[in-house]
Amino acid sequence: MTNMQLRSFSEQLAAETFIDDGVETVTSVDQKKVETSIKEVISVYKQIHSLPEPTLLRDQHYQYLKKGLRHLSDAYECLDASRPWLCFWILHSLELLEEPVPSAIASDVCQFLARCQSPTGGFAGGPGQYAHLAPTYAAVNALCIIGTEEAYSVIDREKLLDFLWSLKQPDGSFVMHVGGEVDVRSVYCAASVASLTNILTPKLFEDSTSWILRCQNWEGGLSGVPGLEAHGGYTFCGTAALVILGNEHMLDLKALLRWVVSRQMRFEGGFQGRCNKLVDGCYSFWQAGVLPLLHRALFKEGESELSRHQWMFEQKALQEYILLCCQNPTGGLLDKPGKSRDFYHTCYCLSGLSIAQHFGNMDHHREIVLGKEENRLAPTHPVYNICPEKVAGALEHFLKLPVPDDSRHAAGFSSSKEPAAAAAAAEPQS
Ligand SMILES: [Zn+2]
Repeated sequence: MTNMQLRSFSEQLAAETFIDDGVETVTSVDQKKVETSIKEVISVYKQIHSLPEPTLLRDQHYQYLKKGLRHLSDAYECLDASRPWLCFWILHSLELLEEPVPSAIASDVCQFLARCQSPTGGFAGGPGQYAHLAPTYAAVNALCIIGTEEAYSVIDREKLLDFLWSLKQPDGSFVMHVGGEVDVRSVYCAASVASLTNILTPKLFEDSTSWILRCQNWEGGLSGVPGLEAHGGYTFCGTAALVILGNEHMLDLKALLRWVVSRQMRFEGGFQGRCNKLVDGCYSFWQAGVLPLLHRALFKEGESELSRHQWMFEQKALQEYILLCCQNPTGGLLDKPGKSRDFYHTCYCLSGLSIAQHFGNMDHHREIVLGKEENRLAPTHPVYNICPEKVAGALEHFLKLPVPDDSRHAAGFSSSKEPAAAAAAAEPQS
């Protein structure tokens, strides 16, 4: 793109900084600190680059990711129970960068994830640990990205369905693991893996829609469980789950739109996770990723004023935030200036960058790439957050297989008191 005008170089940007109306709070002080650090980043950038052309540090990110797939530093010990996540974050980042994974490494990842699969179905955070919905989602996504016969055959679909049934609650929600907590992430993780692997039965998600709808609050966004504050991660999970279940039109779409677009920061250009919080690179996906889902939902509802050219957020402003403020010069991406890089933020900054670069779907597609042509990432599927052809490949493979029979679960479900008791214990008291 030539003759580009960066927001950061415009005189008017200063007018977008936070005004505390003479009331200083912890929140307002933090917000001003972030704005100051971003001003410093911009000023340094201006000194070095007379020509404004933000660059994605492709090679540096590639080297950082490649190393992570083989070896992790001691700093990752705390993520020992999230090892399938590391596989997903790295593999998805690599596919967005269009960097192929050597087949020997892909095969090693398949074997590792097979060792994380629980004998009772679902995947655990590491070999020998208990199965949990979050690493199950990450493992299935990682295997679908690899997309080989070996990868698909790792997943024991019958036991996966048993595992999902063991988490289902009478009110339509799911616990994250047996005896664990309920929140809207679990319905999304369950719906995502069930739909990708063709084990989704109507009975399994009975009452899930009405439970998710109860999570949309007066703000317009969704909370983790009914009655709490709207939050970017939960809003994405609830909305994407409803898309999978075909019921997203039952949300108050206009209220959701208003809430999510209001989370894009007027000075920073990136997104915050909640009202009055600070910008964070990972919400580039959790928040901006809701806009494609909303666009499609409003289109299906016959909304006539929808753009045919762009999502309903400032796509270039988000790209500018990610490219100028969220890249570690030696590879990897991060939350905001001053924070350190990690694989989670690398994955979700790149995913958000991809959403901001690609408008439309496979039939109607328009690219808006800020900076060099080489900044272009592969598109990502806004429901599953893996590349669309990997979603298509998984569906093609698994739709050939029969949906496992779950009539025994459906029949025995109402007499089982145990999961309900677990849910009651996990529910926050209000
Ligand atoms: Zn973050």
